[in-house]
Amino acid sequence: MDNDVDKFYRELPKVELHAHLNGSVSFQTMEKLIARKKHLGIERSMTAIRNDQRRTLDECFQVFKVIHQLVDTEEDILMVAKDVIREFADDGVRYLELRSTPREEKNTGLTKTKYVETILEAIQQCKNEGVDIDVRFLVAVDRRNGTEVAIETVKLAEEFMLTTDGLVVGVDLSGDPTVGHGRDLFPALEKAKNGGLKLALHLSEVPSQLEESELLLNLPPDRIGHGTFLHPEVGGSQILVDKVVKNNIPLELCLTSNVVGQTVPCYSKHHFQYWYHLGHPSVICTDDKGVFCTDLSHEYQLAASTFGLSHEAIWKLSQEAIDCTFAPETLKQQLKQKWNELRPHVCQ
Ligand code: 5GP
Repeated sequence: MDNDVDKFYRELPKVELHAHLNGSVSFQTMEKLIARKKHLGIERSMTAIRNDQRRTLDECFQVFKVIHQLVDTEEDILMVAKDVIREFADDGVRYLELRSTPREEKNTGLTKTKYVETILEAIQQCKNEGVDIDVRFLVAVDRRNGTEVAIETVKLAEEFMLTTDGLVVGVDLSGDPTVGHGRDLFPALEKAKNGGLKLALHLSEVPSQLEESELLLNLPPDRIGHGTFLHPEVGGSQILVDKVVKNNIPLELCLTSNVVGQTVPCYSKHHFQYWYHLGHPSVICTDDKGVFCTDLSHEYQLAASTFGLSHEAIWKLSQEAIDCTFAPETLKQQLKQKWNELRPHVCQ
């Protein structure tokens, strides 16, 4: 990771809304996992991509397969989740929505229910230990696994939403965007929405998803991940943009991830520019801070240096992200108060 981040961005209180658990595992945690599982022969270079390197999206997805081999027990998940939460807190993130795909591992006896329970336990332990961050969880539906698994995952999310006192707030749709079609997942996502879960959907991450995006925007989702190819300048359409604007659906934007994964040619051409200039709610996020060797302070600094944003503009961006969270109104108010209290110190 680039440690050359100005004090302002480190101290800036931040909201992280798009972080995949297994993509967020840091170098230090990865070392511990590799040491635990030497027999797998996994090297550090197989679990992360330096942010000056470029990969195809497919190569990026291969990295997750390697990480999943290293994270396959309750013990691993607890350690990984606690480390990730602490690292976000250390980076000045005050509210985090973490997302992850429940996995079962026959070899270790891990079940999908245990998987989610363990992440929630990690959130609770961090809270008990006084880590200065509010964390909520989104249960991820992997689009590669089709209709039945999507429905099963939504049921799991509903059960946890009802029993965890607001820790589970929604459902994410992710996984390789070149595989599967949203029409097969629509019923599960609609059921989630009707049941009170918020929807954060990866949409138009690759150019070929116009029809799918048009369909899924009818739900409508509560937030959009990436949305790289929604606007007409890159082959999307004004109809899609109008739907997003009309429903005021915030976008979760991940600069380094998109440039390293080459869905965006360079930072200056990132679609942050398009949406930000429309005045549309746009939230800077990391996506996979471990895999892409970044952190949220770095992403904010990158947005500022690429698009010429002042400290004042960056502060506003970070503060406005609070309204894009799936937190209850009371917590949003508390976060806004925290931002107000920190402002004189950070913006001096
Ligand atoms: P996990 O769900 O295992 O905690 O995190 C890794 C998973 O998140 C990946 O296997 C993939 O399904 C999803 N993921 C991570 N980054 C991206 C991304 O940039 N795009 C999409 N579509 N999915 C992602």
